Amino acid sequence: MSGFTVPWNEPSRVPLPKHLYVHVPLCRSKCTYCDFFSRADDGSVSHAELVEGTLESLRGWLTPEVRRVPLDTLYIGGGTPTVLGEDLVTLVRELTAILPLAEGAEVTVEANPESLSTELLAGLAEFGVTRVSIGVQSLDDAALALLGRCHDSGAALAAIRDAVSAGLDVSADLIAGIPGVPAESWAESLEAVIAAGAAHVSVYPLTIEAGTPMAEAIAAGQTAAPDEDSVVDAMDAAATLLSGNGFTRYEVANYALPGHESRHNAAYWTGWPYLGIGGGAHGMLSGDQARALGLVPEAELGVARVRYSYAAEPFPMRASTPLTTFETLTVPEALREDAMLGMRMTQGIAAELAELAGVNRALESLVVDGLVVREGGRWRPTERGWLFGNEVFGRIWGAVE
Ligand code: SF4
Repeated sequence: MSGFTVPWNEPSRVPLPKHLYVHVPLCRSKCTYCDFFSRADDGSVSHAELVEGTLESLRGWLTPEVRRVPLDTLYIGGGTPTVLGEDLVTLVRELTAILPLAEGAEVTVEANPESLSTELLAGLAEFGVTRVSIGVQSLDDAALALLGRCHDSGAALAAIRDAVSAGLDVSADLIAGIPGVPAESWAESLEAVIAAGAAHVSVYPLTIEAGTPMAEAIAAGQTAAPDEDSVVDAMDAAATLLSGNGFTRYEVANYALPGHESRHNAAYWTGWPYLGIGGGAHGMLSGDQARALGLVPEAELGVARVRYSYAAEPFPMRASTPLTTFETLTVPEALREDAMLGMRMTQGIAAELAELAGVNRALESLVVDGLVVREGGRWRPTERGWLFGNEVFGRIWGAVE
Protein backbone atom coordinates (compact mmCIF):
# COMPACT_ATOMS: atom_id res chain seq x y z
CA MET A 1 0.00 0.00 0.00
CA SER A 2 1.10 3.57 -0.67
CA GLY A 3 1.08 6.12 2.11
CA PHE A 4 -2.52 7.00 1.22
CA THR A 5 -4.65 7.88 4.20
CA VAL A 6 -8.26 9.01 4.30
CA PRO A 7 -8.83 12.24 6.25
CA TRP A 8 -10.45 10.50 9.22
CA ASN A 9 -7.70 7.90 9.39
CA GLU A 10 -4.79 10.28 9.79
CA PRO A 11 -2.69 8.50 12.43
CA SER A 12 -1.51 11.67 14.11
CA ARG A 13 -5.07 12.61 15.03
CA VAL A 14 -6.45 11.59 18.37
CA PRO A 15 -9.00 8.78 17.97
CA LEU A 16 -12.55 9.28 19.21
CA PRO A 17 -13.88 6.72 21.72
CA LYS A 18 -14.92 3.38 20.27
CA HIS A 19 -17.97 3.27 22.56
CA LEU A 20 -21.03 5.44 21.95
CA TYR A 21 -24.01 5.96 24.25
CA VAL A 22 -27.12 7.64 22.84
CA HIS A 23 -29.85 8.81 25.21
CA VAL A 24 -33.48 8.89 24.03
CA PRO A 25 -35.36 10.68 26.80
CA LEU A 26 -38.91 9.65 25.92
CA CYS A 27 -41.18 7.02 27.50
CA ARG A 28 -44.77 5.96 26.85
CA SER A 29 -45.59 7.30 30.32
CA LYS A 30 -43.65 7.85 33.54
CA CYS A 31 -43.30 4.97 36.01
CA THR A 32 -44.06 5.79 39.64
CA TYR A 33 -40.52 5.07 40.92
CA CYS A 34 -38.51 6.67 38.11
CA ASP A 35 -36.21 9.65 38.47
CA PHE A 36 -34.28 9.09 35.22
CA PHE A 37 -34.34 11.94 32.77
CA SER A 38 -37.19 11.15 30.38
CA ARG A 39 -40.51 12.66 29.40
CA ALA A 40 -43.83 11.10 28.54
CA ASP A 41 -44.28 10.72 24.79
CA ASP A 42 -47.50 12.75 24.68
CA GLY A 43 -47.22 13.81 21.04
CA SER A 44 -45.77 17.24 21.79
CA VAL A 45 -42.32 16.25 20.54
CA SER A 46 -41.61 15.28 16.97
CA HIS A 47 -39.70 12.00 16.81
CA ALA A 48 -38.05 13.07 13.57
CA GLU A 49 -36.83 16.27 15.23
CA LEU A 50 -35.45 14.29 18.17
CA VAL A 51 -33.57 11.97 15.81
CA GLU A 52 -32.20 14.87 13.76
CA GLY A 53 -31.06 16.81 16.86
CA THR A 54 -29.24 13.73 18.14
CA LEU A 55 -27.49 13.13 14.81
CA GLU A 56 -26.51 16.80 14.50
CA SER A 57 -25.01 16.62 17.95
CA LEU A 58 -22.92 13.56 16.99
CA ARG A 59 -21.69 15.32 13.85
CA GLY A 60 -20.61 18.20 16.09
CA TRP A 61 -17.96 15.97 17.69
CA LEU A 62 -16.29 15.15 14.37
CA THR A 63 -13.76 17.95 14.23
CA PRO A 64 -10.67 17.73 11.99
CA GLU A 65 -8.54 17.20 15.10
CA VAL A 66 -10.05 13.82 15.88
CA ARG A 67 -9.99 10.55 13.99
CA ARG A 68 -13.16 8.50 13.71
CA VAL A 69 -12.76 4.88 14.73
CA PRO A 70 -15.23 2.07 14.13
CA LEU A 71 -17.54 1.55 17.08
CA ASP A 72 -16.93 -1.50 19.20
CA THR A 73 -20.17 -0.90 21.11
CA LEU A 74 -23.21 1.30 20.59
CA TYR A 75 -25.85 1.53 23.31
CA ILE A 76 -29.12 3.37 22.74
CA GLY A 77 -30.72 3.84 26.13
CA GLY A 78 -33.31 5.96 27.79
CA GLY A 79 -35.99 6.53 28.51
CA THR A 80 -37.51 4.04 26.14
CA PRO A 81 -35.89 4.29 22.70
CA THR A 82 -38.46 1.89 21.21
CA VAL A 83 -41.24 4.52 21.58
CA LEU A 84 -39.64 6.06 18.49
CA GLY A 85 -40.89 3.11 16.42
CA GLU A 86 -39.54 3.19 12.86
CA ASP A 87 -37.70 6.44 13.65
CA LEU A 88 -35.47 4.34 15.93
CA VAL A 89 -34.43 2.24 12.92
CA THR A 90 -33.58 5.50 11.13
CA LEU A 91 -31.55 6.63 14.15
CA VAL A 92 -29.54 3.39 14.21
CA ARG A 93 -29.00 3.50 10.45
CA GLU A 94 -27.83 7.13 10.46
CA LEU A 95 -25.68 6.84 13.58
CA THR A 96 -23.80 3.91 12.08
CA ALA A 97 -23.43 5.76 8.77
CA ILE A 98 -21.64 8.54 10.69
CA LEU A 99 -19.62 6.23 12.93
CA PRO A 100 -19.50 2.77 11.30
CA LEU A 101 -19.54 -0.37 13.38
CA ALA A 102 -16.45 -2.52 13.82
CA GLU A 103 -16.64 -6.18 12.83
CA GLY A 104 -18.54 -8.02 15.60
CA ALA A 105 -19.72 -4.78 17.27
CA GLU A 106 -22.27 -5.04 20.07
CA VAL A 107 -25.30 -2.82 19.44
CA THR A 108 -27.86 -2.64 22.25
CA VAL A 109 -31.25 -0.95 22.31
CA GLU A 110 -33.22 -0.50 25.51
CA ALA A 111 -36.84 -1.47 25.05
CA ASN A 112 -40.07 -1.78 26.93
CA PRO A 113 -42.65 -4.45 26.13
CA GLU A 114 -45.45 -2.06 25.12
CA SER A 115 -43.42 -0.56 22.28
CA LEU A 116 -41.61 -3.60 20.93
CA SER A 117 -43.25 -5.10 17.84
CA THR A 118 -41.94 -7.93 15.66
CA GLU A 119 -41.65 -5.45 12.75
CA LEU A 120 -39.52 -3.10 14.82
CA LEU A 121 -37.32 -5.97 16.01
CA ALA A 122 -36.77 -7.10 12.42
CA GLY A 123 -35.87 -3.55 11.34
CA LEU A 124 -33.42 -3.11 14.20
CA ALA A 125 -31.77 -6.47 13.52
CA GLU A 126 -31.43 -5.58 9.83
CA PHE A 127 -29.46 -2.44 10.65
CA GLY A 128 -26.98 -4.03 13.02
CA VAL A 129 -28.69 -4.18 16.42
CA THR A 130 -27.47 -7.33 18.19
CA ARG A 131 -29.04 -7.02 21.61
CA VAL A 132 -32.13 -5.65 23.34
CA SER A 133 -32.35 -4.82 27.00
CA ILE A 134 -35.99 -5.21 27.99
CA GLY A 135 -37.53 -3.55 31.04
CA VAL A 136 -39.50 -6.45 32.50
CA GLN A 137 -39.12 -5.39 36.17
CA SER A 138 -41.55 -8.05 37.45
CA LEU A 139 -43.92 -10.70 36.18
CA ASP A 140 -46.32 -10.06 39.04
CA ASP A 141 -49.15 -7.97 37.56
CA ALA A 142 -50.02 -6.29 40.88
CA ALA A 143 -46.36 -5.24 41.23
CA LEU A 144 -46.32 -3.89 37.66
CA ALA A 145 -49.40 -1.79 38.47
CA LEU A 146 -47.73 -0.46 41.63
CA LEU A 147 -44.66 0.52 39.59
CA GLY A 148 -46.87 2.31 37.06
CA ARG A 149 -45.60 0.14 34.22
CA CYS A 150 -47.70 0.23 31.07
CA HIS A 151 -47.40 -3.47 30.26
CA ASP A 152 -48.44 -6.69 31.92
CA SER A 153 -46.50 -9.89 32.52
CA GLY A 154 -47.80 -11.53 29.34
CA ALA A 155 -46.54 -8.66 27.16
CA ALA A 156 -43.14 -8.79 28.86
CA LEU A 157 -42.69 -12.50 28.20
CA ALA A 158 -43.92 -12.12 24.62
CA ALA A 159 -41.37 -9.31 24.08
CA ILE A 160 -38.51 -11.55 25.23
CA ARG A 161 -39.64 -14.41 23.01
CA ASP A 162 -40.13 -12.14 19.99
CA ALA A 163 -36.67 -10.63 20.41
CA VAL A 164 -35.09 -14.09 20.67
CA SER A 165 -37.00 -15.15 17.53
CA ALA A 166 -35.62 -12.09 15.74
CA GLY A 167 -32.12 -13.44 16.47
CA LEU A 168 -31.27 -10.87 19.13
CA ASP A 169 -29.47 -11.39 22.39
CA VAL A 170 -31.88 -10.49 25.21
CA SER A 171 -31.22 -8.91 28.56
CA ALA A 172 -34.10 -8.58 31.05
CA ASP A 173 -34.18 -5.96 33.83
CA LEU A 174 -35.88 -7.03 37.06
CA ILE A 175 -36.52 -5.13 40.31
CA ALA A 176 -35.99 -6.93 43.61
CA GLY A 177 -37.89 -6.18 46.80
CA ILE A 178 -41.12 -4.70 45.45
CA PRO A 179 -43.54 -4.53 48.42
CA GLY A 180 -46.23 -7.20 48.31
CA VAL A 181 -44.35 -9.60 46.00
CA PRO A 182 -44.09 -13.00 47.72
CA ALA A 183 -40.81 -14.95 47.46
CA GLU A 184 -42.47 -17.60 45.25
CA SER A 185 -43.68 -14.99 42.80
CA TRP A 186 -40.18 -13.44 42.63
CA ALA A 187 -38.65 -16.84 41.91
CA GLU A 188 -41.29 -17.48 39.24
CA SER A 189 -40.45 -14.16 37.55
CA LEU A 190 -36.78 -15.10 37.38
CA GLU A 191 -37.52 -18.60 36.11
CA ALA A 192 -39.93 -17.30 33.48
CA VAL A 193 -37.50 -14.76 31.97
CA ILE A 194 -34.85 -17.47 31.76
CA ALA A 195 -37.29 -19.91 30.17
CA ALA A 196 -38.35 -17.23 27.65
CA GLY A 197 -34.74 -16.97 26.47
CA ALA A 198 -33.04 -14.08 28.29
CA ALA A 199 -29.27 -14.72 28.30
CA HIS A 200 -28.54 -11.72 30.52
CA VAL A 201 -30.44 -10.54 33.60
CA SER A 202 -29.96 -7.31 35.55
CA VAL A 203 -31.36 -7.25 39.06
CA TYR A 204 -31.66 -3.92 40.85
CA PRO A 205 -33.08 -3.32 44.32
CA LEU A 206 -36.14 -1.07 44.45
CA THR A 207 -34.89 2.32 45.61
CA ILE A 208 -37.22 5.14 46.48
CA GLU A 209 -36.08 8.39 44.90
CA ALA A 210 -37.21 11.70 46.42
CA GLY A 211 -39.84 13.53 44.43
CA THR A 212 -41.22 10.48 42.62
CA PRO A 213 -44.92 9.58 42.86
CA MET A 214 -43.92 6.41 44.70
CA ALA A 215 -41.99 8.40 47.34
CA GLU A 216 -45.02 10.64 47.80
CA ALA A 217 -47.41 7.66 48.09
CA ILE A 218 -45.15 6.12 50.75
CA ALA A 219 -44.94 9.41 52.65
CA ALA A 220 -48.75 9.65 52.55
CA GLY A 221 -49.10 6.10 53.89
CA GLN A 222 -50.81 4.90 50.70
CA THR A 223 -48.03 2.48 49.71
CA ALA A 224 -45.74 0.32 51.81
CA ALA A 225 -42.05 1.19 51.73
CA PRO A 226 -39.69 -1.57 50.58
CA ASP A 227 -38.51 -3.61 53.52
CA GLU A 228 -34.69 -3.74 53.66
CA ASP A 229 -34.53 -7.39 54.70
CA SER A 230 -36.94 -8.41 51.95
CA VAL A 231 -34.83 -6.54 49.39
CA VAL A 232 -31.66 -8.33 50.54
CA ASP A 233 -33.48 -11.69 50.56
CA ALA A 234 -34.77 -11.09 47.02
CA MET A 235 -31.28 -10.12 45.78
CA ASP A 236 -29.85 -13.28 47.41
CA ALA A 237 -32.59 -15.46 45.96
CA ALA A 238 -31.85 -14.03 42.50
CA ALA A 239 -28.13 -14.79 42.88
CA THR A 240 -28.85 -18.39 43.90
CA LEU A 241 -31.46 -19.05 41.24
CA LEU A 242 -29.50 -17.47 38.39
CA SER A 243 -26.25 -19.23 39.25
CA GLY A 244 -28.23 -22.50 39.46
CA ASN A 245 -29.28 -21.85 35.86
CA GLY A 246 -25.76 -21.31 34.51
CA PHE A 247 -25.61 -17.51 34.88
CA THR A 248 -22.46 -15.85 36.21
CA ARG A 249 -22.71 -12.73 38.32
CA TYR A 250 -20.08 -10.66 36.54
CA GLU A 251 -21.07 -7.35 38.14
CA VAL A 252 -22.91 -6.46 41.31
CA ALA A 253 -26.30 -6.25 39.53
CA ASN A 254 -25.62 -8.18 36.32
CA TYR A 255 -25.75 -11.88 35.47
CA ALA A 256 -25.03 -13.51 32.13
CA LEU A 257 -24.73 -16.88 30.46
CA PRO A 258 -21.14 -17.39 29.21
CA GLY A 259 -20.35 -14.97 26.38
CA HIS A 260 -23.45 -12.81 26.92
CA GLU A 261 -21.97 -10.16 29.22
CA SER A 262 -22.59 -6.55 28.18
CA ARG A 263 -19.40 -5.32 26.53
CA HIS A 264 -20.67 -1.74 26.59
CA ASN A 265 -21.26 -1.69 30.33
CA ALA A 266 -17.98 -3.51 30.95
CA ALA A 267 -16.28 -0.62 29.09
CA TYR A 268 -17.75 1.82 31.66
CA TRP A 269 -16.43 -0.25 34.54
CA THR A 270 -12.96 -0.68 33.09
CA GLY A 271 -12.20 2.95 32.27
CA TRP A 272 -12.73 3.06 28.49
CA PRO A 273 -13.68 6.49 27.15
CA TYR A 274 -17.14 6.76 25.62
CA LEU A 275 -18.96 9.45 23.78
CA GLY A 276 -22.42 10.19 25.18
CA ILE A 277 -24.99 12.13 23.18
CA GLY A 278 -28.68 12.95 23.63
CA GLY A 279 -30.38 15.29 26.09
CA GLY A 280 -29.05 14.73 29.60
CA ALA A 281 -26.51 12.09 28.43
CA HIS A 282 -23.14 11.59 30.11
CA GLY A 283 -19.83 10.94 28.40
CA MET A 284 -16.23 10.37 29.37
CA LEU A 285 -13.13 11.27 27.38
CA SER A 286 -9.43 10.79 27.87
CA GLY A 287 -7.36 13.90 28.47
CA ASP A 288 -5.89 13.65 24.94
CA GLN A 289 -9.35 13.47 23.41
CA ALA A 290 -10.56 16.42 25.47
CA ARG A 291 -7.51 18.48 24.47
CA ALA A 292 -7.91 17.59 20.78
CA LEU A 293 -11.57 18.61 20.95
CA GLY A 294 -10.69 21.88 22.65
CA LEU A 295 -12.64 20.99 25.80
CA VAL A 296 -9.57 21.67 27.92
CA PRO A 297 -6.59 23.83 26.93
CA GLU A 298 -3.67 22.06 25.19
CA ALA A 299 -1.44 23.16 28.05
CA GLU A 300 -3.50 21.34 30.69
CA LEU A 301 -1.41 18.20 30.53
CA GLY A 302 -2.41 17.15 34.05
CA VAL A 303 -5.96 16.39 32.91
CA ALA A 304 -6.23 12.63 32.41
CA ARG A 305 -9.98 12.30 32.05
CA VAL A 306 -13.00 14.49 31.45
CA ARG A 307 -16.57 13.61 32.40
CA TYR A 308 -19.34 15.69 30.93
CA SER A 309 -23.09 15.72 30.57
CA TYR A 310 -25.46 17.43 28.21
CA ALA A 311 -28.13 19.86 29.33
CA ALA A 312 -31.68 18.52 29.37
CA GLU A 313 -32.95 21.68 27.67
CA PRO A 314 -33.77 22.52 24.95
CA PHE A 315 -35.92 19.44 24.50
CA PRO A 316 -35.40 17.64 22.21
CA MET A 317 -31.71 18.44 21.93
CA ARG A 318 -30.27 20.52 19.11
CA ALA A 319 -26.77 20.68 17.65
CA SER A 320 -26.20 23.64 19.95
CA THR A 321 -27.32 21.97 23.19
CA PRO A 322 -24.57 22.85 25.67
CA LEU A 323 -22.55 20.58 27.91
CA THR A 324 -23.45 21.44 31.47
CA THR A 325 -21.53 19.41 34.00
CA PHE A 326 -17.87 19.19 33.21
CA GLU A 327 -15.46 17.46 35.57
CA THR A 328 -11.73 16.99 35.03
CA LEU A 329 -9.71 14.27 36.75
CA THR A 330 -5.95 14.15 37.29
CA VAL A 331 -3.97 10.96 36.60
CA PRO A 332 -4.12 9.80 40.27
CA GLU A 333 -7.87 10.51 40.37
CA ALA A 334 -8.51 8.64 37.12
CA LEU A 335 -6.56 5.65 38.44
CA ARG A 336 -8.50 5.67 41.71
CA GLU A 337 -11.73 5.90 39.71
CA ASP A 338 -10.67 2.87 37.63
CA ALA A 339 -9.92 0.96 40.83
CA MET A 340 -13.27 1.95 42.34
CA LEU A 341 -15.35 1.08 39.25
CA GLY A 342 -13.43 -2.15 38.70
CA MET A 343 -14.56 -3.36 42.13
CA ARG A 344 -18.14 -3.46 40.83
CA MET A 345 -17.09 -6.46 38.76
CA THR A 346 -16.53 -10.03 39.95
CA GLN A 347 -13.05 -10.00 38.41
CA GLY A 348 -12.12 -6.98 40.53
CA ILE A 349 -8.86 -5.24 39.66
CA ALA A 350 -5.31 -6.29 38.90
CA ALA A 351 -2.75 -5.86 41.69
CA GLU A 352 -0.76 -3.63 39.29
CA LEU A 353 -3.67 -1.18 38.97
CA ALA A 354 -4.11 -1.05 42.75
CA GLU A 355 -0.39 -0.32 43.11
CA LEU A 356 -0.45 2.42 40.46
CA ALA A 357 -3.61 3.93 41.93
CA GLY A 358 -2.07 3.95 45.42
CA VAL A 359 -5.02 2.14 46.99
CA ASN A 360 -3.27 -0.88 48.51
CA ARG A 361 -3.74 0.26 52.10
CA ALA A 362 -7.42 0.98 51.55
CA LEU A 363 -7.86 -2.48 50.00
CA GLU A 364 -6.02 -4.14 52.88
CA SER A 365 -8.39 -2.45 55.35
CA LEU A 366 -11.33 -3.74 53.28
CA VAL A 367 -9.85 -7.26 53.42
CA VAL A 368 -9.77 -7.00 57.25
CA ASP A 369 -13.48 -6.11 57.16
CA GLY A 370 -14.32 -9.03 54.88
CA LEU A 371 -15.36 -6.76 52.01
CA VAL A 372 -12.51 -7.61 49.62
CA VAL A 373 -10.22 -10.59 49.00
CA ARG A 374 -6.84 -10.79 47.32
CA GLU A 375 -6.26 -13.85 45.14
CA GLY A 376 -4.54 -14.77 41.89
CA GLY A 377 -2.87 -11.37 41.51
CA ARG A 378 -6.19 -9.51 41.77
CA TRP A 379 -8.30 -7.76 44.37
CA ARG A 380 -11.95 -8.78 44.22
CA PRO A 381 -15.10 -7.77 46.09
CA THR A 382 -16.75 -10.36 48.35
CA GLU A 383 -20.54 -10.85 48.50
CA ARG A 384 -20.47 -8.68 51.62
CA GLY A 385 -18.39 -6.13 49.76
CA TRP A 386 -21.12 -5.84 47.13
CA LEU A 387 -23.72 -5.44 49.85
CA PHE A 388 -21.68 -2.59 51.36
CA GLY A 389 -20.54 -1.23 48.01
CA ASN A 390 -20.59 2.40 49.13
CA GLU A 391 -18.08 1.59 51.86
CA VAL A 392 -15.79 -0.14 49.37
CA PHE A 393 -16.03 2.62 46.76
CA GLY A 394 -15.73 5.39 49.37
CA ARG A 395 -12.55 4.00 50.91
CA ILE A 396 -10.90 3.43 47.52
CA TRP A 397 -11.82 6.89 46.24
CA GLY A 398 -10.69 8.53 49.48
CA ALA A 399 -7.35 6.69 49.58
CA VAL A 400 -4.29 8.88 49.28
CA GLU A 401 -1.02 7.04 49.93
S1 SF4 B 1 -39.73 3.14 31.29
FE1 SF4 B 1 -37.79 3.35 32.40
S2 SF4 B 1 -37.03 5.41 31.97
FE2 SF4 B 1 -39.19 5.31 31.35
S3 SF4 B 1 -40.33 6.11 33.10
FE3 SF4 B 1 -40.26 3.87 33.32
S4 SF4 B 1 -38.42 3.44 34.54
FE4 SF4 B 1 -38.27 5.57 33.81
